[in-house]
Amino acid sequence: MLKFKSVEELVNQLKPEKPVYCIRKNSVTRASKFFQNNFPGEILYAVKTNPHPEIIKTLVESGIDQFDIASIEEIKQVKKFTSSAKCSYMHTVKSPESIKRAYFQFGIKTFSLDTKEELIKIINNTNNAKDLELFVRVAVSNEHAEIDLSKKFGALNSEALGLLRLAKQHAKKVGLSFHVGSQCMHPISYAKGISEIGNIIKKTKIIPDYINVGGGFPTIYPDLIPHNLMEYFGEIKKGLENLKLDRSPKIICEPGRALVAESGSTIVRVNLRRKQKLYINDGTYGTLFDAGTPNIVYPSKMIKETSNKIISKKITAFNFFGPTCDSMDYMKGPFLLPNNIKENDYIELGQLGAYGLTFRTQFNGFYSDEIYEVEDAPIMSLYDKDINKSTFVA
Ligand SMILES: *Cc1c(COP(=O)(O)O)cnc(C)c1O
Repeated sequence: MLKFKSVEELVNQLKPEKPVYCIRKNSVTRASKFFQNNFPGEILYAVKTNPHPEIIKTLVESGIDQFDIASIEEIKQVKKFTSSAKCSYMHTVKSPESIKRAYFQFGIKTFSLDTKEELIKIINNTNNAKDLELFVRVAVSNEHAEIDLSKKFGALNSEALGLLRLAKQHAKKVGLSFHVGSQCMHPISYAKGISEIGNIIKKTKIIPDYINVGGGFPTIYPDLIPHNLMEYFGEIKKGLENLKLDRSPKIICEPGRALVAESGSTIVRVNLRRKQKLYINDGTYGTLFDAGTPNIVYPSKMIKETSNKIISKKITAFNFFGPTCDSMDYMKGPFLLPNNIKENDYIELGQLGAYGLTFRTQFNGFYSDEIYEVEDAPIMSLYDKDINKSTFVA
């Protein structure tokens, strides 16, 4: 992978016609170390967030040895870089074939479920295996999340009781898990999730081998400035202590966004300006899917690729249109950029390390696989915030 000192150097040398995606490996390492040093438990990386080989490789090198996978392809992607890593199949709805292949071909023992039907499916397709670890995923409120997952996944508290009892009969180890929703803006959600789990433990008198607090840890966007991550970890610790269990379950989490968001940027070029609308060369059918209907606002920066380029100090709010002919290829923003931005200027859009690369399609013939490494700092960083810095041990 070609490497550049900065996005400015990259643009100056390549003058790319297509959108270019940049990876900052340092950002991955930094976030990974932060979690490893401060989260009170074990860390599974949620592979769907960014399955790029360099990301998986960098995470493995930084010490991550567990992965939350949701498909056979994701298992294969992880196994390319580490044969010893533990993969946990945390999708609660799987095909019978994929359960069989995961168990018999890849040695996966850990599966998640939120219905009795899925529990039976797992047992049948592993030939009544006696070495399974089964996680019952419990539905919790996603009220503080930007992206709500609660309507699709999770057993209601009343269903979870029966599921945990049944899982306990068939599995070697059992776990309880939840997901507070992605980009969760308030640490209290984790304490609430843990207290839901406490209710289930009380009623079933089963202390699980694992408590899995899921993903949802936020990154920083211009209009979504989260509490610092130490507050999240603090809530989790306090919530667990409040359960007052006789025996301590293993604690795990499955971060995606918070680990890799800062590691990726997309560099786009302006094809046309119409007042406050910029027609750019990437969009919602490319890496910018989440800027569409989910309306995530990425940090934006006009690139000063040559020293004589004038960048106005006056800032204007822009909307973006992507390159395809579809009207859904629209990104409301507002993206804040210098007022003098015009055709052929380049823009860096940050925090695209999570849910960026992986959303690209070939729709309308627009697709770019130009990926380079850059060594400069991301536009914004959660790990620079003072409070996090004081507790940051790299
Ligand atoms: C997507 C996903 C994650 C990661 O979520 P983030 O919000 O990106 O941290 C974790 N666990 C499961 C089961 C997921 O589906």
